[in-house]
Formats: sequence, structure tokens, C-alpha cells
Amino acid sequence: MSTERGKGTVAVVGGAGAVGSSTAFALMESSLVGEIILVDIAEERVEGEAMDLNHGSYFTSPVRVRTGDYEDCWDADVVIVTAGASQKPDETRLDLMERNADIFADMIPQITEGLNDDAVMLIVTNPVDVLSYVTWKVSDLPAERVIGSGTVLDTSRFRHSLSREFDLDPANVHAYVVGEHGDSEVLVWSSANLGGIPFVSYATSHGVDDVDALKARVEEEVREAAYEIIERKERTNYGVARSVAATTERILGDDNSILTVSTLVSGEHGIDDVYMSLPCTVNQGGVRDVHEFDLSADETAALRESADVIRESIERLDLE
Ligand code: NAD
Repeated sequence: MSTERGKGTVAVVGGAGAVGSSTAFALMESSLVGEIILVDIAEERVEGEAMDLNHGSYFTSPVRVRTGDYEDCWDADVVIVTAGASQKPDETRLDLMERNADIFADMIPQITEGLNDDAVMLIVTNPVDVLSYVTWKVSDLPAERVIGSGTVLDTSRFRHSLSREFDLDPANVHAYVVGEHGDSEVLVWSSANLGGIPFVSYATSHGVDDVDALKARVEEEVREAAYEIIERKERTNYGVARSVAATTERILGDDNSILTVSTLVSGEHGIDDVYMSLPCTVNQGGVRDVHEFDLSADETAALRESADVIRESIERLDLE
């Protein structure tokens, strides 16, 4: 780890934005983080965010927040990228793609040209799967060190939704969302379980008569979550900030945690050369392993369709 006290340094590019500043706020709670560097083209605003965040440091474990430039990312352990335009009401994440791909083509080489060999890039800007692929392509970094925040947030939403249906601690809900972080994402019901009890058995033994109706309700809640929030407050920031901070902690802690981050898929489930979320073992080296589920035939088909959605978007960009 890169700071004197053996704690990690995290750079947040886009740190003056709603997601970047909320992520910095969440990261201040972590005993693994010693320094947070906020980088943003909005110079005055990013200074204000750093000042404001620092004034809470009396109540957190020792951490310093400062502003910096792209070069200040070079010594970081984790570089989180939230920079870019954000989703407007009724706009899909893929609509954002071209605007943000241009920003990335200019910005990423400036971050990676002097980046230390051990750093992990964690991309959050939407469409996150496409922009993680763009980052990997334009940076020449090893794929395991370029991660997208992926469906870690959607997986949390899925668990939250099921935990509320059954009045359970979300920690006892084991269920994953995979594929695109977006409209084509796939909720994996076939292996979902509550405290080790398969979802359908749990539901039917707890008074649920119409399991399909419950599934449809949860699917809609999870898939529509971002749209519902954006309609009310124009952006999402706290849920994503928590999920990105948690992913960063698993990286800094070298935890070998299984998370549905977005990663380069190379043959899993018959899918190739696309970034999307599958359960991955994550540690200080980035993605250690990509895992294949035992999916139902319908889930496999949906996952391949989701990969096609992302691939079509990537192909619309001229990356060669
Ligand atoms: P925002 O507009 O509040 O913040 C974006 C920040 O990026 C701004 O401060 C802007 O000045 C900065 N910026 C733009 N170009 C830059 C550059 N070249 N270098 C440095 N900084 C630059 O937007 P937001 O609400 O924070 O959202 C940020 C991104 O995160 C959006 O793309 C949004 O869709 C995405 N997002 C992703 C998830 C997820 O789960 N992956 C969830 C929510 C939002």
C-alpha cells in the first residue's frame, strides 16, 4: 500500500460529481484508506468538496483528502473513474455512450501513461461495461487490472428487494445479477437462496402462492431502480457510492471476495471479447478468477443476449 501508514491511496477522477464525492465520503469510513485524491475538471468545485470532506476527518479513521491532476493518480492503489456526463430522465445508459467514450479516449491515456504496475482501475461512468472495455483497449493494461463497477449495485438491489419481501437480513440473501449493468441485465433466480434454502422452497414455505408474480415484481423493482430514482432526484449516488467503496475495500484488503464486477469475458458461457458482469474473485491484483454459473437455459440465453447488447455498442465505437 502506498501511504506511509501502510494504508491505501485512492484517486477519484470525477471527484467533484455526485457519484465521485459520495464515493469519497463512503471511502473515508474505511480503515484501509489513508489518502483520497479528488481529480476533476471542475477545479473550484473539487476544491470545495475536498475541504468539506476533510472537515469530517476528526470522526473517521485518519485519512487525508486532497485535490490533484491526472498525474496524481499514478501512485494510487485504486483509481476510480466516475468522470463524464450522467444519465438524464428517460435516457438509457447506452445513450450516454458516445459522449463519454470521447471523454475517455482523451482522459484515460493521461491517467495510465505513468500509472504504477500494481494499480487497479475501477470504472463507474456509464455505460460502465462499454467504458471499461474502452479503458482496457486504450490503456493496454492487463484486463485483470481494469474492472467495471458492473452489477455489484444491481446485486445489492436484488438482495435488498428479496430481504424486504421476506423480512430478512440482506446478508442472508444470496442472489446475483449478471450481464450488462443496464436494461438487459439478468437476475439469476435458479441459484438464488435465502440462508441456503433455495428461493422457490423458501417462498412456498413462507406463504407465497404465486412465485412467478413475486419474481416479476422483484425483477421490475431491480431493473427499474435507477430510472425510478432519477425520475425523482435526477441522479443516483448513495447506493452506487456504497457499492464502489465496498469493491475498493475488497481490492485494498486483498480479500478474494466474489463480486459481480464487470470484467473481460473470454469464453465463459460461450461469450467472448466483451466486458460484462459475472461473479469474479477480486483482490489486490484486480480480478483473480471469473466464475461460470450453472445457469438455466433461459438464463444462459438472456446472458448471451445481454452480451450482444454490449458488443453492438462497442462495435458502434471506432476503437481500432
Ligand atoms: P456528475 O455530472 O455529478 O459528475 C461528473 C463529474 O465528472 C463532474 O464533476 C465533471 O466535472 C467531471 N468530469 C467530466 N469530464 C471530466 C474529465 N475529462 N476529467 C475529470 N473530470 C471530468 O455526474 P454523476 O451523477 O456523478 O455521474 C457520474 C457517472 O457515473 C455518470 O456516467 C453516471 O451515469 C455514472 N453512474 C454509474 C453508476 C453505476 O452503477 N455504474 C451509478 C450511478 C451513476
